[in-house]
Amino acid sequence: MNAALADPFAALNDAQRAAVEHRGAPLLVIAGAGTGKTMTLAARVARLVLDGADPNRILLLTFSRRAAQEMQRRCGALLHAALGLHATQGAPLLPWAGTFHAVGARLLREYAASIGLAPQFTLLDRADAEDLMGWVRQELELGSGERRFPLKGTCLAIYSRVVNAQAGVDDVVATTFPWVRGHEAELKRLFAAYVDAKQRQQVLDYDDLLLYWQQTMSEPALAQAIGARFDHVLVDEYQDTNRLQAAILRALQPDGRGLTVVGDDAQAIYSFRAAEVRNILDFPAQFAPAARTLALTHNYRSTQPILDASNAVIARAAERFTKDLHSGRAGAKPRLVTVADEAAQARFVADDVLLQRENGLRLRQQAVLFRTGHHGAALELELTRRGIPFVKYGGLRFLEAAHVKDLLSVLRWAQNPRGRLAAFRVATLIPGLGPASARRLLDAIETAADPLAALRGFKPSAAAAAGWRDWLAAHAALADAPWPGAITLARRWYEPQLERLHEDAAIRRGDLAQLERIAATFTSRERFLAELTLDPPEATSDESDAPHRDEDYLILSTMHSAKGQEWASVHVLNAVDGCMPADVATGHGDEIEEERRLLYVAMTRARHQLTLLVPQKFHLTQQAKYGDRHLYGALTRFIPEDIAQRHFERMAPAAALGAEAANTTPLPAIDLMARVRRAF
Ligand code: ATP
Ligand code: MG
Repeated sequence: MNAALADPFAALNDAQRAAVEHRGAPLLVIAGAGTGKTMTLAARVARLVLDGADPNRILLLTFSRRAAQEMQRRCGALLHAALGLHATQGAPLLPWAGTFHAVGARLLREYAASIGLAPQFTLLDRADAEDLMGWVRQELELGSGERRFPLKGTCLAIYSRVVNAQAGVDDVVATTFPWVRGHEAELKRLFAAYVDAKQRQQVLDYDDLLLYWQQTMSEPALAQAIGARFDHVLVDEYQDTNRLQAAILRALQPDGRGLTVVGDDAQAIYSFRAAEVRNILDFPAQFAPAARTLALTHNYRSTQPILDASNAVIARAAERFTKDLHSGRAGAKPRLVTVADEAAQARFVADDVLLQRENGLRLRQQAVLFRTGHHGAALELELTRRGIPFVKYGGLRFLEAAHVKDLLSVLRWAQNPRGRLAAFRVATLIPGLGPASARRLLDAIETAADPLAALRGFKPSAAAAAGWRDWLAAHAALADAPWPGAITLARRWYEPQLERLHEDAAIRRGDLAQLERIAATFTSRERFLAELTLDPPEATSDESDAPHRDEDYLILSTMHSAKGQEWASVHVLNAVDGCMPADVATGHGDEIEEERRLLYVAMTRARHQLTLLVPQKFHLTQQAKYGDRHLYGALTRFIPEDIAQRHFERMAPAAALGAEAANTTPLPAIDLMARVRRAF
C-alpha cells in the first residue's frame, strides 16, 4: 500500500470510527438523518475487506437497487483510495450487495433443487400477480356472490400483508382491511388457490422471494448452509424492514454475530407495506446482552436553519427515539412560499430552479419532491415546455401512463378520424370490440372517401353493439364541443372504461382530473394536442432510467423514493393539509404520524436550500368519486403557526399569486374591419 496516501478513513468522527471498527457482537447504529449512517456502513465494509474479509462472504442489504449501487460506489471509492489503486484498476466488487428481494431470488435459484422449486422459475411483477389473482378469483367464482367480493388489487394487497407481516388473514382483515370483514373464509380459499396456481406455473411473486427464503431458512440444515456463506451481514434503512425480513436475518445469524443494522426510527415511512419500526427498536433486547448500540449525533448534510425547522416538525411526533439534529453550519432559513395554485407553483419552481442554475447550482444538485406521482404532473409539463431536462423517480411518468394516453387518444381520434394509432387504442377500449374488429374498422376508415361516414356505417359484432353506440354518440358530441369542454366529454366516455379495466381506477382518475386542468390552460384542443405531440416529455428525458453521466437534469421524486438521498437544494410541493398529510391518511392516528415522518424525510434531504410551496388553491383528486374538490390555502398541520414564524422565511411573490394578470392594462378595442374597408 502506498504509505503516502491520505487515510480515507481519517474523516470519520469517533462514533463513526467505533462503528467501523467494531467486531463480533451484533451492532445497531441508530441515528438521525444525514449523520453518516450509510457512509459509515460503506466504510465498515471497506474496512472489513482491508482487514482480510472475503468480499464474497459479505452480505449487504439495501432498500433499493439504486441504493445498492450507491453503496458499492462509496465502498469501492474507499477501497480504491486505501489500496492506492490506479483509476483504471477495479476495486474488489461486492457480489452480494442488493435488496432483500434480489438476494432472495439468487439464493432461491441456487438452492432450488433442495427445496423442490423449479430452477427455471420466473418472476411475476405486481401487475402480473394481480392478473393471476384476478384469474383465480374468477375461477373460484368469488365475484358472483351477493356481497361484493374485494377486487383483485385489494386481494393481492391483503395477501401481501399476510405474508410480509407474518400475520393471519383474520388479523390482517380486522386491523388493516376492516371493510372486507366477513370474507375471511373465501379469502383463505382464494389465497390457497393462488399459491397453487403459482406453483403449477412455476412462478414466484415479489413476496414469495422473501417467503420462500424465510421458509428455506426454517429447515436447520439449509439455514446452516446458507448462514455459513456469510461472515458479515449489514442492513441499511433497517427501520423500514418488515417481520419477514427480520426473521430472515435472525435465521441467517441466530446469535447476531457479524450482524450490523443501521437506521432511524424518525424516518420510518413504509408501514403501509408492513414495515415494522419495532424491528429497530427491539434490536438491542433481541440480541441482549451482547448487542452494542451506537448513536451518531452530528449531521454532516444540512445547514443548521434547515435542521432547526426539521427538528421542530418532528418534535411534535407522538413517539420518537433519535435526538435532535445538529450541524452548526450557517445558512439561510428554509422558505415557505405561498402561490396561487398548482400552475403558479409549477412556474415558480421552474423559475427558481433556473435561477439557482444561473447561480452555479447544476440541475442535478436540485430536487423537487412530492407526496404522490401525479402531484408532479403540472411541473413535468412546465419543465417540458421550457426545455428543462428532468428525471422522475417513483410513480409513473404522467404522460406515459396508460390512462393518460387513453384519454389523449380519445381527443386525437375525435380530431382526426384517420389517425390510426389513437383510433386503434380507443377502438379496443370499447367494450366487446376486439383487435380484429378494430383493424377492420380502421381499414374501412382508411379507404373511405368520407371517414366519418365509414365510422358511422361500421357494423360491429353483437357483443360490441351497445358499446359502439355509446362511442358514436360521444364521438359526435366531441366533434362540436368547445374547448376545454371537450376533454370533460372525453373523460365522461372514458371513465366507465377506466373503471372496467383498472383496479386502481380511483388513483388514475386523479391523473385525468389533473390532465383536464392542464388542458384548460391551453386555448384550444389543437394547441393542447399539438404541444404535447410536438414536444412530448419523452424527448427531454428519453433515458430516464439511464441518463448519461455528463448530462444535467433536474430530479423529480416522490418523497418515498427520496429516502437516503441528498441534494443541495430541495423544493417540496404542496405543503398543504389534504396533501401533507394526504387526504386518504387523515383518519388514523398512526397514519398521520407516518405522514409527519414523511415530511421530515423530505425536509432532511436538503443540504443548503429548502423551499416548501403552499398553493392557496389545491385540488383534491384522490377522492374523485365524491367529485373534484378544492382546498384553500391551509398550510400543513405539521407546520403550525409558531413553527412557521420561528423557523421559516415566508414569501408570497406577487407574480406567483396572479397579481400580474390584474395589472395588465386593457387593450383598446378597434374596428379593424372598417379600417381595412376604408383603405380601399
Ligand atoms: P439518511 O438518514 O438520510 O439516510 P445517513 O445518516 O445515511 O442519512 P449519509 O448519507 O451517510 O447519512 O451522510 C450524509 C452526508 O454526510 C453525506 O454527504 C456524507 O458524505 C457526509 N458525511 C458523513 N459523515 C461524514 C464525516 N465524518 N465527514 C464529512 N462528511 C461526512
Ligand atoms: Mg442513509
